[in-house]
Amino acid sequence: MSTATAPASPDPRKLVLLGAGHAHVQVLSELARRPWPDVEVTLVSPHPQLFHFPMVAGYVAGRYSLDACNIAIEPLVRASAVTWVRRSAVALDANRRMLRLDDGTELTYQWLSVNTGAVQDRDQIELDLPGAREHGLFVRPFAALGALWPKVVELAESRARRVAIVGGGDTAMELAMAVRHRLPQAALTLVAGTAGVASGQPAAMRERLVLALKQRRINVLPDQATRLNDTELTLGSGARLACDVALIATGVSAPAWLQGSGLACDADGFMTVDACQRSSSHANVFAAGDVSTRQDGLLPRNGRAAVSAGPTLAANLAAMAAGRHATAHTAPARALKLLAYGDGHGVATWGAHTLQGRVAWWWKDWLDRSFVRRLRQTSPPDS
Ligand SMILES: Cc1cc2nc3c(=O)[nH]c(=O)nc-3n(C[C@H](O)[C@H](O)[C@H](O)COP(=O)(O)OP(=O)(O)OC[C@H]3O[C@@H](n4cnc5c(N)ncnc54)[C@H](O)[C@@H]3O)c2cc1C
Repeated sequence: MSTATAPASPDPRKLVLLGAGHAHVQVLSELARRPWPDVEVTLVSPHPQLFHFPMVAGYVAGRYSLDACNIAIEPLVRASAVTWVRRSAVALDANRRMLRLDDGTELTYQWLSVNTGAVQDRDQIELDLPGAREHGLFVRPFAALGALWPKVVELAESRARRVAIVGGGDTAMELAMAVRHRLPQAALTLVAGTAGVASGQPAAMRERLVLALKQRRINVLPDQATRLNDTELTLGSGARLACDVALIATGVSAPAWLQGSGLACDADGFMTVDACQRSSSHANVFAAGDVSTRQDGLLPRNGRAAVSAGPTLAANLAAMAAGRHATAHTAPARALKLLAYGDGHGVATWGAHTLQGRVAWWWKDWLDRSFVRRLRQTSPPDS
């Protein structure tokens, strides 16, 4: 976005919430409980729902309906009495306090809070894996996978399908095990990249995950997917894998519109924030969730971290509007991680401790459902 023109005078006491992500739905819920006097709040978000991503494996496995994983935005908007602009942001000029939307309109603000998540960069993925754009089923944004997955399941009823999952991280492993549960007859391959599965995990955890995949008849290939067409996936080794469906679950990138926004970003293009979730370059901008990187390195980039930052973000936005100081979001010293195996089992890790089995799944299921339920119960203070 150009910075050559004269600065626009920002609207006074105007807060823009960009993206209805996991932290912002909690900001809306807090606003419904305790409105902030004299602050005009606008939510910019194109989607009518927030899909609670940690439940995606449960959805693919057939344990949850789509509805069970979705948080409707409209009731939150109504309860919090904010203005909802159903558009996406395409550019930001943080120095001019100006946000440009996909219909060309420009929004000015005094304060901005960003919670738009990360993206799968389709241009880059297409360069690395030609054919992915046309033939791959991307996990982000979720709408396409959510709509197409029931069709895949239906097709698999007529004959066993060959499914490949491209990726070697938590998401890819969870999805592979979820697909196995839903499609027990499918030939299932995880193309994990040359580093193999769970490469960043401690050795003990990695061994558990490798065994869990093996027990579920998932063929794990430590190889690179290099080309995809409608019938096969070509690998770096030159091998060709027959494939009816390819789920693309490779890593995430920062949204392109952050480039040139003037906000301080890390080497990968994610917004850097301090312990108060405040931009490290612009004191009137906050962010939480996957779009941001904590400078202290204390919050990982995942759904649970995005959820945990929500209450602090809400408190700090309220404090800023009231002229008070922001407070730090104290991230837990040891992050809890929960992975579902799709079949009612799972694994939990917390520091050096690991728990595998049904209890881990129950724990994850309870946490995820509780989050969705809590937001669904949001109502205005006088109701
Ligand atoms: C398949 C899969 C499985 C996962 N499983 C787990 C798990 O088990 N546990 C876990 O902790 N994490 C999991 N994750 C990671 C988790 O999904 C993310 O870390 C989490 O969704 C981040 O939350 P967020 O609020 O930052 O962003 P999001 O949940 O992505 O929400 C961002 C919102 O902003 C909106 N938006 C995006 N761009 C714009 C724009 N330009 N303008 C306006 N609005 C915009 C989007 O529509 C979306 O509603 C998984 C991810 C995937 C893909």
